[in-house]
Amino acid sequence: MKDISNLSNEDFDKNLIVTSIDAVANWARSSALWPMTFGLACCAIEFMATAASNYDLDRFGAGVPRATPRQSDLIIISGTVTMKMATRVIRLYEQMAEPKYVISMGSCATSGGPYWQHGYHVLKGVDRVIPVDVYVPGCPPRPEAVIEGLLKLQEKIRLQTTEGPPTIPFLRKLLRKKNPA
Ligand code: SF4
Repeated sequence: MKDISNLSNEDFDKNLIVTSIDAVANWARSSALWPMTFGLACCAIEFMATAASNYDLDRFGAGVPRATPRQSDLIIISGTVTMKMATRVIRLYEQMAEPKYVISMGSCATSGGPYWQHGYHVLKGVDRVIPVDVYVPGCPPRPEAVIEGLLKLQEKIRLQTTEGPPTIPFLRKLLRKKNPA
């Protein structure tokens, strides 16, 4: 075994890094987000543009949308969430790997958008069924706004701690009872 008794302070400064589990886990999680290939309406077209080469999501470590929820830790709700689709959104969210994140993209996903008053078939905000981390305003939001939302999510992830249970909105349970899959 190597004798380390004669190492100087300078040797330690160059070769030793002290950090926390939270800092390492948060760095890894925020630098390698796996968005799901998922879209519901016109906002999804803008999300496709954001994921295309012109905006290069790889710069932020989120450039490879996955084709299955089981390989994804980020779902971007891009479009109008109808009551019919709400149950599917819940099912996809539940199949995603933990820890998982949600971005609500556009006014439809956030509040019902143009359908908030008379759209009896539209959920007035996806946060009624799954927890949302970041809201991106717009109808539709530009790719730059989606990227800003992604950066905000990364900031939020860097403040996470490995302790504590995830939150489960009670409405998810209610909806599941009303629409058993
Ligand atoms: S917010 Fe606007 S662009 Fe996005 S899905 Fe709704 S109507 Fe379409």
